[in-house]
Amino acid sequence: MNQLDVAALRRDFPVLDRTIYGKPLIYLDNTATSQTPSCVVDTIRDIYFHTKANVHRGVHTMSQEMTAMQEATRERVRQMLNAESTSEIIFTRGTTEAINLVASSMGDSFVDGDEVIVTVMEHHANIVPWQLLSRNKRVTLRVVPMDERGVLDLEAYRSLFNSHTRMVAVTHVSNVLGTVNPVKEMIAEAHRHDVPVLVDGAQAVAHMAVDVRDLDCDFYVFSSHKMYGPTGVGVLYGKRSLLEMMPPYQGGGEMIANVTFEHTTFAELPFKFEAGTPDFVGIAALHTAIDYMQGIGIDAIAAHEHDLLQYTTERMADIPGMRIFGTAPGKSAVISFLIGDAHHYDTGLLLDKLGIAVRTGHHCAQPLMHALGIEGTVRASFALYNTREEADTFIAALKRVAAMLQ
Ligand code: PLP
Repeated sequence: MNQLDVAALRRDFPVLDRTIYGKPLIYLDNTATSQTPSCVVDTIRDIYFHTKANVHRGVHTMSQEMTAMQEATRERVRQMLNAESTSEIIFTRGTTEAINLVASSMGDSFVDGDEVIVTVMEHHANIVPWQLLSRNKRVTLRVVPMDERGVLDLEAYRSLFNSHTRMVAVTHVSNVLGTVNPVKEMIAEAHRHDVPVLVDGAQAVAHMAVDVRDLDCDFYVFSSHKMYGPTGVGVLYGKRSLLEMMPPYQGGGEMIANVTFEHTTFAELPFKFEAGTPDFVGIAALHTAIDYMQGIGIDAIAAHEHDLLQYTTERMADIPGMRIFGTAPGKSAVISFLIGDAHHYDTGLLLDKLGIAVRTGHHCAQPLMHALGIEGTVRASFALYNTREEADTFIAALKRVAAMLQ
């Protein structure tokens, strides 16, 4: 049952009134980025017109107001994740920067021969930062495989731990397959070996409630732009005990306590990891996005998206030559597919001509594509504003495309 008043919610997203090639836009590229409700854009506009002043630096009223707004978002994120303290919430430019921060800073203490466990379905953002450590020392990635449904092989995972394992870095939800990984179980296993775990939550936070204390993860990262917030802002949650031990990632203003040419001391958490002027406008608008999402209710959003996933997947099965990649039980509302031998790019181009925005290619997951034995897929992904009517139009379009390309 659809609990959301989607017709009303769609009015919050002016972009959905657009037409593409004369057809109403059907936006199914939500995994890449979600659209932004008016309230979030209004926050940005209001700040630029009334409150823009740099944070943490001024005694003047506007600087103090802006600082209060930024710090209110930190508290809002803390609540959303159920973190213990705001000193564990660090603002970054996005998921990618957050993972680079952890890899670089944690990696500082790694030595030749150390190992990082990742999974076959990681986004490049959770592969390459760990590989970059090899510039200074030999760090090897050990990879958890999956079965044909896109479910991780936990037996294999357990067998990868040894005395060289320094970190586990795993995605909560696959951006290609939609698989929701059993991260809580994986974290418990890693902790039995005293190994910390980073969870990439880029595809999770807009679709499910996340409780970092319940998961007991050591790091959790996500991007605002995938959860109805502005671009250019991300979050790193880290356990205080680890963050305190880690060296700063970047140097500059905001992150220092005292600077001389001989010696610099660093600011307390979380500021130790926030060098330079943050995107304080975007951070304030993230607060609005979280309020918006939670005002609707994350469980209601998840139920709506799950309904669309099931409805669409069932109907796609009738299309000749349809191959869907990722059939894990309880998967998120992401459908990766190919139609027979048709190239993903051709399918995406034809769908665009019909007003339907999907993503094509390797989705920044080339190792996963290699494991699947393909070059890329077409990917349709749902958000709170998508409808069954859009799903029907999408299915009808796929039938036309299948007839044209096969
Ligand atoms: N991790 C996953 C699972 C993603 O889907 C993405 C983006 O698609 C990222 C990381 C990178 O996010 P960003 O480009 O916002 O840093």
